[in-house]
Amino acid sequence: MVRSAALLLLALAPALACDQPPVDPRPNLLLILVDNLRADHLGLYGYGRDTSPQIDRLGASGVVFENASATSSWTKPSVASLFTSRDPSEHNAVSFARHLDPELPTLAESLRDAGYRTIGVTANFVHVNERWGFDRGFESWNSFSVEVDDEAEVMWRYEHQPGAFVSLRAPNAAEVNKEVLERLDASDASPVFLYVHYMEPHSPYTPSPQHLKEMVGTEQPEAGAFATNDLLVQIARGEVAVDDAQRQWLIDLYDAEIRAVDAGIGELLAELRRREMLANTVIAVVSDHGEEFGEHGGWFHALTLHHESLAVPVVFHDARSSGGGQRLREAVDLVDVPTTLLALAGVAKPAGMRGRALLTDRPLAPRDLVAELHEDPKIEEHIRPRRHRFALTRWPWKAIVDRDRTRRVYRADRDAAEAAPMADAGGSPDALSGAIDALAARLVEPETRDAEPLDSDAVDGLRALGYVE
Ligand SMILES: [Zn+2]
Repeated sequence: MVRSAALLLLALAPALACDQPPVDPRPNLLLILVDNLRADHLGLYGYGRDTSPQIDRLGASGVVFENASATSSWTKPSVASLFTSRDPSEHNAVSFARHLDPELPTLAESLRDAGYRTIGVTANFVHVNERWGFDRGFESWNSFSVEVDDEAEVMWRYEHQPGAFVSLRAPNAAEVNKEVLERLDASDASPVFLYVHYMEPHSPYTPSPQHLKEMVGTEQPEAGAFATNDLLVQIARGEVAVDDAQRQWLIDLYDAEIRAVDAGIGELLAELRRREMLANTVIAVVSDHGEEFGEHGGWFHALTLHHESLAVPVVFHDARSSGGGQRLREAVDLVDVPTTLLALAGVAKPAGMRGRALLTDRPLAPRDLVAELHEDPKIEEHIRPRRHRFALTRWPWKAIVDRDRTRRVYRADRDAAEAAPMADAGGSPDALSGAIDALAARLVEPETRDAEPLDSDAVDGLRALGYVE
């Protein structure tokens, strides 16, 4: 309000001498990604537990997309889609050894070139880092890890000298927030684009006793309860069987990690409020993929394209707008998020970005949504082969297509959990079949671009996140 008034004054009285530079009225943009967060484990997506009071509050006065998908079921391709508004086969970051295509414009570059200060802080130090090109466009960037002694928390054992190891974990939300705020406070130039990537819901699940207690009720939970990456991978490989009680225990831990990251988001928002930034900040909350708990026989993530792997939150909150509290059922995906933010910032969409402006291009034109899994021997040999190749959603239909072109078609509006494929895709439009064929023909494995042999650092990083034994 103060800023708009100042701008109005400048506009009305151009002859007045003024030593102050004009205040840029464009909104700050805060893009929050919570790694590994299934939409259906959040209160605002109907979950029975109170996992997410802070995110719920944003959604209650914001806009919630009820049918939002990731473009893959693991971090790198999904975050690359979020940064470039491209499908995975176009941006090249589809396997452990592939870089984000350096030719593609990114959200951060577009905002930086339009005068935004750009800051990125990511706790996913293995995939979302400068090594793979994810820092492009950020004037201030950090992908960082924390040395740790506790074996339960270890995500990465790095042999920095022969025989000398250092054990690392992903930073927690408090550590991420501290890093974000230090970078934010380094300058008062505005507007600002903040990308904040939290890791709590990603294994290892190591919630605090307090957060676990908040999820499982009044009984004091077992002290030190945790689940390591190794355990999740062993389960995904079928080496460790999980009964109903053990499954619930894993879900309890996962939910407690969501509760922890939600509290961390609340703390970041409180700090922004204290800096009087929130009133002019657009907030987006998304995830890069979900997590499987045996729904279709799978565990972990990165392996299938079922709903539990792909359905993610997409929530926008714009304190400047009074039209909040909307819940929209259109099918959208991560490709639509950067273009939505650019539109809200009044920044032109670079040629080639495929997404829509979800909040301003109303009514929304339908778009086919694509999710992909590519060949990645390093992951598949050490967990299990990926049968699924791509998913195509042409609302209300969703097709999952295997590498051998076997396809199953679901009615996403009536059977979101994908309990039963339509018999012979009966009732689906002929056009869907044609679209699947066309996509299958187009989605060949990309040419080797910037691929490089995995060196020991990269393999260590892969092991760190549980992808390699
Ligand atoms: Zn991830």
